[in-house]
Amino acid sequence: MDEFIEVDIDVPRRIAIKFIMNLIVLVSLFLVINCGVAVAVPQKTTRMRIKIRKPNSKIQAKFVWCTNLRQIIKAGRQLGKTVGAAIKAASAFVGVCFDCKGVPGDTDCPHCHGTGKVAPQRVLYAAPTEAQVDKFWYEVTRALADPISKKIYKLNKSKKEITLKGTDIMLKAKTAYDPDSLRGGTWQGLILEEYQLMKENVWGEVAQPMLARYHGWCVFIFTPPRLGSKQKSWAEDPRHASKLFKKHVNDKPDPKTGVCRWLCFHGTSYENPDLSKEALDEMLEDMTQDAYRREIMAQDDEIETMWMVNHAWRENICYINDFEIPKNWPVKTGHDFGPANTCMLASAEVRLPLPPGAPEYMPPGSMVIFVEDKPLGTQSNRQHVQSWEDKTEGYRVVKSVGGNKSGEDQIRQGFTDIGWPIYEPVITGPNSQGPQIEHITKLQENNNIYLFKKNKGLFLEFANMMFELDDENMPTKKIANESKYHYYAALRYLAAEYDGTQGTFELPEPEDY
Ligand SMILES: [Zn+2]
Repeated sequence: MDEFIEVDIDVPRRIAIKFIMNLIVLVSLFLVINCGVAVAVPQKTTRMRIKIRKPNSKIQAKFVWCTNLRQIIKAGRQLGKTVGAAIKAASAFVGVCFDCKGVPGDTDCPHCHGTGKVAPQRVLYAAPTEAQVDKFWYEVTRALADPISKKIYKLNKSKKEITLKGTDIMLKAKTAYDPDSLRGGTWQGLILEEYQLMKENVWGEVAQPMLARYHGWCVFIFTPPRLGSKQKSWAEDPRHASKLFKKHVNDKPDPKTGVCRWLCFHGTSYENPDLSKEALDEMLEDMTQDAYRREIMAQDDEIETMWMVNHAWRENICYINDFEIPKNWPVKTGHDFGPANTCMLASAEVRLPLPPGAPEYMPPGSMVIFVEDKPLGTQSNRQHVQSWEDKTEGYRVVKSVGGNKSGEDQIRQGFTDIGWPIYEPVITGPNSQGPQIEHITKLQENNNIYLFKKNKGLFLEFANMMFELDDENMPTKKIANESKYHYYAALRYLAAEYDGTQGTFELPEPEDY
């Protein structure tokens, strides 16, 4: 259910009483003639209540109500950028006080003195594709549907303009990708969405001058572009939006005003609480690691390959379609323990001959991770074991490993007691994490770790894991936010079971992958 910002808007009397204009004219004339005062026209104001959707996430609320003169939003797909832009644009156009979020009552507010309302603004929204503009336009016309139907706002559908009747206050949307397509008018607020696809001189040549007269605000919204993306772009430097962001991300407030001129926001797709699991899965379908980092996590080229923990893993070779694992291949499982995050990986060791459907270049001795198990919520040991048994049924499970050296003996024993023996990992003891990671990297370099595409858990951790950086942006040996990566923890224990072998088979030609 959507929540709404409700705003009373003053309707210019001229419109409200249009239908009784004749009567008013007569009354006015009467008053003017009889009393000599033209202002004696009845002072009633007609009020109109409009409903603008409330922001649905913290980050959306932050950028909707942000009042910095320049705002840059670097965001993953489906974060709610366009809806946020529509809320912001409609609120400014209607005259919502951004400090009070349209709520009346704060008499100390220097902008609205407690009314929740300020002067309405001329706002322009521009995006390089018609589809994107249509999305925005749908949202604003929905928010303003009632006053439009009551003819308080005039809607010009073909020009995508909404005007407050009898004024030059306008909300407009247009398709723009270079200076010429953006040109036209002066504005108090400007929103440039999919800014990374626009030509870089849009801002300096046209946008900035068109805001100058009113000292207007501008919002840049972008998603880091995928390298080699087929999406049509008018930008010469595909990274120009990222560079603008990088330039201002650490801006310090002006010492006089205490306010930053530029404010940068970063948000991932996961920050939209209304994004359903189905929608996310659909987005992740066939997504490469690079696309995932950019389009979901909204990270860009400032990330160097060497910062990525799993940079040695070749997705194009080792992220494979499922095939029937032969029942004689030995299977091992790796386990990470935790009250709510107990998870398991099962891998099969590649033997010759390779079965149908298996990539021909897969060297024997490699691990094919074909099962991921991470139940939601807390489960009993018995429930876990049941799930592991179900998922490995019919396979030859020869060994299970998991946990740290210290402190997790009891947990291993607990599972062992109910029929799923778990052993201490081969690489173990204090400071074993470094050697465990090094071992995984070695296997990755030799193309010895294969993941089935149907499983996304470990794949997404591979795509996402970075080393902590030191002061000079050099990677340390420590994984940033290590505790988030449960599948990788299971892999650290499991991978030590495999020595791998150097690929003896010919890898596919580059054009094949
Ligand atoms: Zn206010």
